[in-house]
Amino acid sequence: MPRSHKTLSRLFIDAPLSAGASVELGREQTNYVLTVMRMKAGEALVVFNGRDGAWMARIADAHRKGAVLEIVVQTQHQTPKSDLWFGFAPLKTGRLDYLVQKATEMGAGVIQPVITRYTQVQKLKADKLVANVIEAAEQCEVLSVPEIRAEVGLTELLAHWQQTQGLRRLVFCDESAPTHSPLRQLRDLDGLPIGILVGPEGGFSDDERNHLLAQGFVVPISLGPRILRADTAAVAALTVVQSIIGDWR
Ligand code: SAH
Repeated sequence: MPRSHKTLSRLFIDAPLSAGASVELGREQTNYVLTVMRMKAGEALVVFNGRDGAWMARIADAHRKGAVLEIVVQTQHQTPKSDLWFGFAPLKTGRLDYLVQKATEMGAGVIQPVITRYTQVQKLKADKLVANVIEAAEQCEVLSVPEIRAEVGLTELLAHWQQTQGLRRLVFCDESAPTHSPLRQLRDLDGLPIGILVGPEGGFSDDERNHLLAQGFVVPISLGPRILRADTAAVAALTVVQSIIGDWR
């Protein structure tokens, strides 16, 4: 991947970015830049906001109460947000953080928690999930932060899928599918908007599996002959989709 200013730290800031603009950081980001990153006045970093591309910025004022950045020059044009939808059954906190970070690194544009029969966690802390995807976005140099949606039940998701998702096909990672390479099924979806669904540690219930398989927009795939943990399955599914019909091409 061609990289510019790769030695500079990257920071997501939700403020308009244009040459000569000044942006005052909040307390948390000021602390991050001055204390954690130990940056000083005059030093440069790269900032992005998900709308205006990436910009080289300088610390104009290293004030502990609120560092001020001067936006200098654009280093990358804004690229379109990813259209890849990723649905998963939430896991216990530690693994959940890992999973949303991996989904971000693997190019998901929408991250949708789906509550299924065997999902362990019911209430999610949205601000923690957002903090995780922002951190992952900064690290993997994407220019947009994936959208984290509010959790939804599987039955409700499927009931509204066609009216809300149009032509999008839902790639259903089915641990009970006969082992096969997903290559052919995925190739047949090339050019269509894609969603990926991964179940919880306890898997999908038989009713859920039958309900999913009965939907015309659902495409079940196997992820090989072993039962993968949900976070492994998430990365494996995102890998096969991105490499066969996604943005790795
Ligand atoms: N404990 C369950 C498995 C759950 S694995 C059991 O023993 O049945 C968690 C999720 O990862 C599954 O719901 C599925 O979406 C995905 N997954 C794991 N291994 C898979 C495989 N070999 N093929 C397809 N999906 C898989």
